[in-house]
Amino acid sequence: MRPPPLYLFKCVVGICFSLNDAQIHRELDMLINLTDVFTSAGKERRESLPYKPDSFSYMGNTYRIQEKSPITFSFSNTGNGRALIRGSVDLTLEIPCDRCLQMVDVPLAAAFEQEVFSPDANQQSEDQDEQSFMQGYELDVEAFVNNEILIHMPVKVLCKPDCRGICKKCGHNLNQGECGCDTFVPDPRMAAIKDIFNADKEV
Ligand SMILES: [Zn+2]
Ligand SMILES: [Zn+2]
Repeated sequence: MRPPPLYLFKCVVGICFSLNDAQIHRELDMLINLTDVFTSAGKERRESLPYKPDSFSYMGNTYRIQEKSPITFSFSNTGNGRALIRGSVDLTLEIPCDRCLQMVDVPLAAAFEQEVFSPDANQQSEDQDEQSFMQGYELDVEAFVNNEILIHMPVKVLCKPDCRGICKKCGHNLNQGECGCDTFVPDPRMAAIKDIFNADKEV
């Protein structure tokens, strides 16, 4: 009668192991292993996975993520130990207006194309140093996408093109009407005019 209990015991152990594996996988699922893409010529792989963070930090500020699409990736082999990452993610960030500080929903469509190298690719070390989102053969999805969001962050955020900003004396939102302060010295409305001039210059 001994063999069956042993067999059962092995089963139980087996289940324990697979549960552990699942847990580990869940913790590391923001890492994508690219070994197969790095090593097989012509290999192409597609992945779609959620972007987990609910906020994004930039220049010491944290912005809430209001909406997000899944991240889509395509990985293709571009030579021995090299892979091209293409993909996109759409987010809506809540960012305060540069003039009146009212929150604005800013849609951000980040499309990316980036070549990465495996640890055994014959690349110069500086190139690999720039790949802070690569951990050996694995892509750290969150670090990679954060880097892309950073690149796509808008330079200027306005609640509306002719936002009148806030009164520099009392902090009143001038879009909601005048505050009655004597705005003879720094008139915030000048900011709007300056912006128009600068925008013209940039074009
Ligand atoms: Zn505004
Ligand atoms: Zn005022």
